[in-house]
Amino acid sequence: MSTAALPVDFLQALAEGFPSDFLTREPDELKEYGRDWTKVYAPAPSAVALPRTTDEVSRLLALCHRHGVAVVPSGGRTGLAGGAVAAKGEVVLSLQRMSRMGPVDLLGNTVRVQAGAVTEAVHRHCAEHGLTWPVDFASKGSSTVGGNIATNAGGVKVIRYGLTRQWVLGLQVVTADGTVLELNGALEKNNTGLDLRQLFIGSEGTLGVITEATLKLTQLPGRQDVFLFAVPDVAAVLRLFRDARQQTTFLISAYEFFTDRCLARVQRHRKLRSPFEAGSGCYVLLEAESRDAAAVEAWLGSLFERGLVTDGTQAQSATQAAELWALRESISESLSATGLPHKNDISLPVAGLEAFCAELESVFSARYPGWEICLFGHIGDGNLHVNVMKPDEMDKAEFLAHTKGADPTMFELVRKHAGSISAEHGVGLLKKDYLGYSRSEAELALLRVLKRTLDPRGVLNPGKILDA
Ligand code: ZN
Repeated sequence: MSTAALPVDFLQALAEGFPSDFLTREPDELKEYGRDWTKVYAPAPSAVALPRTTDEVSRLLALCHRHGVAVVPSGGRTGLAGGAVAAKGEVVLSLQRMSRMGPVDLLGNTVRVQAGAVTEAVHRHCAEHGLTWPVDFASKGSSTVGGNIATNAGGVKVIRYGLTRQWVLGLQVVTADGTVLELNGALEKNNTGLDLRQLFIGSEGTLGVITEATLKLTQLPGRQDVFLFAVPDVAAVLRLFRDARQQTTFLISAYEFFTDRCLARVQRHRKLRSPFEAGSGCYVLLEAESRDAAAVEAWLGSLFERGLVTDGTQAQSATQAAELWALRESISESLSATGLPHKNDISLPVAGLEAFCAELESVFSARYPGWEICLFGHIGDGNLHVNVMKPDEMDKAEFLAHTKGADPTMFELVRKHAGSISAEHGVGLLKKDYLGYSRSEAELALLRVLKRTLDPRGVLNPGKILDA
């Protein structure tokens, strides 16, 4: 559908019933709002709608439903699976003007916010009261609450707090025909049958548009120690994890790993310094919450004695902690800035990671002999980000064709080890064709029934997750 193909009576209804700045069709804005961080799809929306209220969202969706106009709901567009891409003349429904945050409820430990509130702004808002919404990742400065919930976002604190799903009490959702649903309010307990919230959390905008949410908050963590360790290989990363998990004197709030190749790209792009003189195969960033500094110190000393690490450093200040975190959190942007990565986001049961990684090596050497592979991720959650880098001499089309051809081999291995082909990035357009590696035929059939029931005309983010 091109811009001209939007129905005339649809455009007329928009012009009559909405503020004059409700819709934009500026070419630059179409390009900007039509893409997310995936960057492999060419954006081509027909228009961008920028509502200020739930009522406007509801009336817009009712109109789109009536006229059969496809809508792509849009938050901070930091997704990596193409879930927010509008490449087929859709109308982008951006929630960015709906970013109001209500007062923090200090008795219930909740806050009600509009979907367009930026993650980091919510953190700041709650921190004034010693509280936090513990959904945290590198793109927190741009990602929004609505997008986080619609994609059930993961991130660097899942090992401690779980996924976004666990931190949502209430949802206001507008369904395809414009119906406004208020789901669960601010209730911690509500056992009145099926929990409809969960239908929309992780639905990537295919079943409804999230307009407001009541977020569950928790206390800001106390003393946090940040460590960076050097270890030879992935097996050693997992040995150290096993040991850290068995400690009773601290709680792990992040256990992240990356390989030397990731570090080299970060150093090249961000000019950051490694705290270690000698290189090492893998690095582990551990963040731990503890009330007992001496016990942590003793554990740290024992790691060297027991040969669990080859080098290690502990941040001595908030600045140093931020510097260590920057090495990990700059990886994604550094890989894209210094080359062309083919990204995959997979998860395995933590207990099966070692066997999986050993077999993954043989897939790499058969499919990508001598190519640069940058492996990192939230290994404490069993989540690996696999990045195959385009060899310099290879052209882009050949590279993309080759990696696409090789993906099924890895997904087959993921299935064999009872993992998931998308750990935290979602399905969007990128993983749609491969959903069968992680969901059964019976599950897919049920998902299609739900989609057709909630969106009978197929106007909500069509073609994402699955083809109805
Ligand atoms: Zn991640």
